Amino acid sequence: MRTIAHVDMDCFFAAVEVLDHPEYRGLPVIVGGARGGARSVVSTCSYEARAYGVHSAMPMATAERLCPDAVFVCGNMRRYVEVSNLVMSVLGNMAPIIQQVSIDEAFLDMTGCEHLYPSAYGMGEAIRQAIKDASGLTASVGIGPNKYIAKLASSSCKPNGLLVVSEGEVEAFLDPMPVSKLWGVGEQGSKELARYGITTVSELKSWSQQWMIDKFGKWGAVLYRLARGIDDDPVTPDEEPQSYASENTFETDISDIDVLRRALVHHSSRVARRLRESRMLARTVTLKIKYSDFQQITRGRSLVEPFDDDNTAYATSCSILDEINLAKPVRLIGVCLSGLTGERQLSLFAQPRAATADSVLDAIARKHGSRLVVRGRELQ
Ligand SMILES: [Mg+2]
Repeated sequence: MRTIAHVDMDCFFAAVEVLDHPEYRGLPVIVGGARGGARSVVSTCSYEARAYGVHSAMPMATAERLCPDAVFVCGNMRRYVEVSNLVMSVLGNMAPIIQQVSIDEAFLDMTGCEHLYPSAYGMGEAIRQAIKDASGLTASVGIGPNKYIAKLASSSCKPNGLLVVSEGEVEAFLDPMPVSKLWGVGEQGSKELARYGITTVSELKSWSQQWMIDKFGKWGAVLYRLARGIDDDPVTPDEEPQSYASENTFETDISDIDVLRRALVHHSSRVARRLRESRMLARTVTLKIKYSDFQQITRGRSLVEPFDDDNTAYATSCSILDEINLAKPVRLIGVCLSGLTGERQLSLFAQPRAATADSVLDAIARKHGSRLVVRGRELQ
């Protein structure tokens, strides 16, 4: 039997802002894209702002209308990452295995550590207290026999809550839940299930596994297990990323190729810097474009020699751009580096000049911040 904890920081970005600006405490705080930006969205907001109906991913303009007196903050990703690293290191000291799933969320496999605490509840309180002591922030914690139940538990007790669902309590916990709460069901899946009169987990459970598979295929088999609280997915320590990507949505659709190239300068240097920071090389550059009508295309190019410099990323993405049909205006553009390798295979010669320039820029970025324009969409 396993003991899994899911930790979710409460409205993380907004909470960090309040921490750094005590004068914001008790006020509605909205973190997101620039005010007035046609496509800016809310990234995170405090519970005081949620009381006005504001929520994540809502257009900033709507949030302003609902809650004009809120404190609007553009967001400071460097600071959020700093606090996140602090919290994750605290969690890493408490659990034998930790899997960070986002900037403010992690699974902890606490199996074998049960005897260190008076109870599962005591374990959860210890986790919450350790986070509070280190960062001054609150987190919601769910504890269960697997990742799926732990995550459902933490989302059921937000904010600043703790919920323990033991193996024996799983059925009573799940049965009354609307099916929309199950992993991967969402709005679309709920509609699909509603056609068969299934709205709660207990209704879902009344159907046989064969019926589920006949009706929904693979998804049916997954649902059958989820309805019974079964999940064998292990807590796996963070893996090395498989790719580095950077993209932006323009405030207005763009037809000017020079503007698109300028965006590629930004994205290329951003992803190449992350590559160098992780001491990796990439082989493949992929350009992603979304047109004004939301049609999306991606075009990749693999190079013979792995690289980690801004120039190669930029020149390759530009040459891909030159071959793309720009008859329609562009809404979004992005660059992704993949085919990562740790080895510099062919370049045994002296470092090219470009690499030297990059290392100077990296040093500046480390010292003064990378001057990134952080948009609401990047913050999500
Ligand atoms: Mg959170």
